Parts: sequence; C-alpha cells; structure tokens
Amino acid sequence: MKNVRYARCVKCGKLYEATPNLTNCSCGGILDIIYDYDYIKANLTKEKLARRSDNSMWRYRELLPVEEDTPAPPLRVGWSPLYEAGALADRLGIRTLYVKDDGINPTASLKDRASSMAVAKAMEAGAKVIACSSTGNAASSLAGNAAAAGLNTYIFVPGRAPRGKVAQLMTFGATVISVQGSYEETFELSKQAIEKWGWYNRNAAINPYLSEGKKTVGLEIMEQLNWAVPDYIAISVGDGCTIAGLWKGLKDLYAIGWIDRLPRLISAQAEGCCPINRAIAEGEDWRPMEENTLADSIAVGVPRNADKALMAIRESGGLVVNVSDGEIMAAQKLLGRTCGVFGEPAGVTGAAGLKKLCEQGKIPADASVVSVVTGNGLKDVANAIAACGEPISIPGEMDLLLRAFADHGVVVGS
Ligand SMILES: *Cc1c(COP(=O)(O)O)cnc(C)c1O
Ligand SMILES: [Zn+2]
Repeated sequence: MKNVRYARCVKCGKLYEATPNLTNCSCGGILDIIYDYDYIKANLTKEKLARRSDNSMWRYRELLPVEEDTPAPPLRVGWSPLYEAGALADRLGIRTLYVKDDGINPTASLKDRASSMAVAKAMEAGAKVIACSSTGNAASSLAGNAAAAGLNTYIFVPGRAPRGKVAQLMTFGATVISVQGSYEETFELSKQAIEKWGWYNRNAAINPYLSEGKKTVGLEIMEQLNWAVPDYIAISVGDGCTIAGLWKGLKDLYAIGWIDRLPRLISAQAEGCCPINRAIAEGEDWRPMEENTLADSIAVGVPRNADKALMAIRESGGLVVNVSDGEIMAAQKLLGRTCGVFGEPAGVTGAAGLKKLCEQGKIPADASVVSVVTGNGLKDVANAIAACGEPISIPGEMDLLLRAFADHGVVVGS
C-alpha cells in the first residue's frame, strides 16, 4: 500500500507492518493506521474526486488502507444522503442542521462501511471465512457483504438481538450463534473461536482496518457540505469504533489541507449504559457498566475501543450527553415526523442527545450541526411501535371510520 506507512499502537507506540491480518498490539492496545499524507496529496485532489462517478465509500480509495488493485466488494456501501433538516433545526432552536441517514446502506446501518472494508481485507488476506461478534448490526452487515463476495461467515450475537437483525443473518446464510448472555460474554466466546479456527477477524476493536472503513462517513459529510466544516457532529457510541472512525476521517482531511478546522464531536450514549461518557465527565479511566437500554446496538457495558473513542472526544473538545430510553423513543418519533427518516433506537441516539443539549442551552443558536442516523428503524419494529403507538384499527365500514375519527379526535382536513 503506497498510501500507508505502518500501523501504530495507540497505547505503547509500537510500529507494525500493515499486513492484511493485523490485530491488536502485543501489549493489548489497538492499532491505528498511519498514512503517507504527502503521497495522498500528490495523488488525490478535490477536483479529481468531484469528477468521480463512484457513489460509494470506495470513491475515497486513496485515503483507504487497501492495495491499489484490490477490488471494491460488490454491495454498494456509503454515499448516504445528507439532508438539510430545517424543520427539525427550528424545533431544536439552532440555525443549521443536517441529518446524515446511514440507515440507507445495503444492510441498513453504518456498520456496512466497516464490513465492506473487512471483506476487502479478507480478500487481500486470501481468507474464505470471516467471523465477528456483534450487538447485531456488525453481524448482519458482515453477513450481507460477505455473502455478496462469496465468503462464509460465523457470527456471534447476544440472545437479545432484535428479530429484524437475526432475520437478516439467516437470510444472508451466516452460521449464527446466539449466545445466551451479555454482549461481553458473546465477544469473549467469539474471540476464543476465532483463535481456535483462525478465521478472518471482523471485530472492529481488534481489526484496525475497520475504523478506516467507518471514517468514510466523515469524508462524505465534508464532501457533501462542500468542505464547509460544521460546528458539531452528533453520533451514538457503543464500542467506540464509529466515533473514532468519524474523527479519523476528519483528521485525515485536515492533514491533507482540505479542511481548515475540525468540528466538535457530540458523543451520545444511553443513561443505562454510558461507560465512555462517564469517563469523560469524570475525567477518569472508563469502568464497565450494566447494559440497561433498549438501544441494543449501543448496549455495550465493556467498550472494546474505549481508547480511540476517548481520544477522539477529548481531542475534538467534544461534548458528552446521556439520554433515557424515553428520550430515545421521542427522538425516533421526532426524526420520523420532521425528516421522514426512520432510525432504530441506537440510530437516533445522536439526535436525542443533540435535542437534550439544545434544551439545556449548551449548543449556541447560531451553530451548524450534523446528526448521524446510524441504523434503520425497520431492524427493530417492536420498539418503533412502542415509541409511536398502534394505528386506528376498525372493520372496513364508513360509519365506523367516522366514529373512530371522532373517538381519536382526528379533524379531517383536505
Ligand atoms: C454499532 C452501532 C453504533 C455504535 O458504534 P460503536 O462503534 O459500537 O460505538 C451506533 N449505532 C448503531 C445503529 C450501531 O449499529
Ligand atoms: Zn502496544
């Protein structure tokens, strides 16, 4: 890889050659991919990028850690819409708000960005089997992206994973192990199995390439905003790979001089499971927490990428905010009604956090903000119905419709 210099441990600084099979440092720390920004600057310009017709995350190939001749995996991942959300901005009392809907990815979450990268690197490594543990979305996205590329998958999910995600896994033909236990126990079992059978490892906090896939969400936001840097970007946090990846993408753009400042990150977690935000708020190391939230994708009591996430939040001068399940459900409804965007609970937690910070007066009224929706609501319809209610249900007769409208206080307009 001409654009990559090496991988470096974020804990002890040890350097590694960037081979496709990289995992953690011998000290247990997570590796970070270090680029040759001079090479990238010489080979990619904003104008060259603007002329590209590839509307996927692979349009940023010069900024990604793959060989020049590695084919992009088959599913079209990334280049999700960035909507200007005027009505929602008005509701929150801020000047400019954009909603980045990553729920439109092929398996309906931001995790596709990491899984597409995992498939590309597995192909470089000559692997035929990929494995991961996941709260659900990493699993379904790996299964889908691998199926399209003709690779087999072994997937470990906690028993609580919503049915929509399990249905995706079964449809994509993964070998699925539903672990009767927490995400932490699920992760540990997957780790042992991966060691035993030598599968390619798609655990995002172990395989350093996966954050590099996730960083494309940051690259896209900036290109879609024509390189005008927003003041804040709000996103939900579980293991911490997503927010760390987002930050990496922004820092890459800063390093090659395409943006002249960096936004502040807003790290949103659930009140019932917020070890990373608690560490920031207390200025201390993170400690494990229970996994008490309906936002299953971010119910991560032992975050696997806390180091990179904490660094990203601190470096950006970021804000942390914890929201209740009720606030997450309210945000789900609000995004649906003001933007037509349907997010799963963890998908809208960034927006819920932003709303709360606005209500607390912590975001200036003239701020410009991007809120990333990280997963689609169809993955977890039970919680969407719980948040928004059941429809009017009647036999097919006009007089009953009139009565139902009267009962429900529906005033019919034209
Ligand atoms: C995985 C996930 C997150 C959080 O990403 P981490 O890397 O675990 O912090 C947020 N939202 C959704 C929908 C996810 O699937
Ligand atoms: Zn190390």
